[in-house]
Formats: sequence, structure tokens, C-alpha cells
Amino acid sequence: MTSAGADDARRTLVAATNNEGKLREFRRLLAAHPWRVVGLAEAGWNGHLDEPGDTYVENALAKAAIVSAALTLPAIADDSGIEVDALRGWPGPRSARWLGEGAGDADRLAALIAEVDRLSPDDRRVRYVCVVALCRPGAQPVTARGECLGVLVAPRGSRGFGYDPAFLSDDLGLTFGEAEDAAKDGASHRARALARLMESGVLDPAPEAG
Ligand code: IMP
Repeated sequence: MTSAGADDARRTLVAATNNEGKLREFRRLLAAHPWRVVGLAEAGWNGHLDEPGDTYVENALAKAAIVSAALTLPAIADDSGIEVDALRGWPGPRSARWLGEGAGDADRLAALIAEVDRLSPDDRRVRYVCVVALCRPGAQPVTARGECLGVLVAPRGSRGFGYDPAFLSDDLGLTFGEAEDAAKDGASHRARALARLMESGVLDPAPEAG
């Protein structure tokens, strides 16, 4: 984890998420960049992060915008999900909520596998999708999308979070539950979305601390 020393001249970037798995990934993926990534608790914000839309873009923008406006700081958020090709992309943006409020990651993982087990064995193709949004005071918001492809399998490994143990990555030949952090970061939808955001220059080095 990054520490916030008094001599830390990097600019602060708030990760607008309550998901510890995403926060860890944002920190890793931005570790080589001159930004000090802070979570919501560290930033002192305990408001509610709504996902008001039906699309990844709307939800990522909503989360980054409310936090950036409240703290007057740059904020990054993602909205992400898993999509079953044979089910026309379901559950997609509803991946964290489709089983109801009381369900946890393990319940959703088991239930998604049960849904896909009902399909033909050829219909297990899935993709992870991630849209990241960056909102900064006084600047236009920016979004970027990343995807990675795979197959839904019986869970293997305990790394990552959410659906990772059942996501057999085409790129890695391993589930994201088996993959080392660096391997997931070389192939994930979140890494690809962030890479595209960085390509646009919006996270290029900024001179002053803030
Ligand atoms: P949301 O973006 O907060 O709506 O949540 C996205 C949901 O999609 C998460 O709760 C996970 O269930 C799933 N998800 C998205 N990205 C990942 C990932 O990298 N690993 C595992 N599950 C993911």
C-alpha cells in the first residue's frame, strides 16, 4: 500500500470504489505513475456510491463525479461486469447486483455457474468488461473501456475477487483465481481500460502536489 508522507509530492487520485479488490488493483496498476491513489475511507468520504444507470459508462461516471465534486480532487471509478456471450451479455452491468442485495461474491459465483451449466457445453464463453471514468475539477470527464475474453469453468484458485476463480482467461490459460497479481494485471479488462485512459494523456505527470 502507498503511504502518504509529508514529502510525498505526488498528486492525489481518489479511487471511488467500496470494492477492496478493485482498490487493490487500481493501486497496483497505477503504482508506476506519479499519483498517490487513496481509497474513500482514507480520503474521508463516506457517502453512498449510486449506480443509477443501465450502462457501464453511466455508472462509472456517476461514481467518479460525485466523489470528485465532493472532495474537489481528481477521482477515478470503474463499472465492470462479466458477460455470458450466449446470454446476450447478461449479467453485464448488473454483475454485482443480479442475485439481490443480500447475496455475496461466493453466492453470485455459484449461481452464475449454475445458470451457465444449464446451457450447452459450447456456450460457456464469457468476457469481463470494464469502463473506467476519470473526473477532475474544472475538466471534462474521460472514460475508457477494456475487455478480456475467457470461459466460465468450475472454480480454481483463490486469488483475485468476485468471479475470478471461474474465469479461465484465454490469454493466460489460467483462471484469474490461479493467476499471480502481475499476470492478471497483464491481461485484465481493468488493466486494459486503464491503459487506454493513460494513452489519452489524462494521467500524465502533473507538476504540483494536490
Ligand atoms: P460494480 O462495477 O461495482 O457494479 O461491480 C462489478 C462486479 O462485477 C463485481 O462485484 C464482480 O462481481 C464483477 N467483476 C468485475 N470485475 C471483476 C474482476 O476483475 N474480478 C472479479 N469479478 C469482477
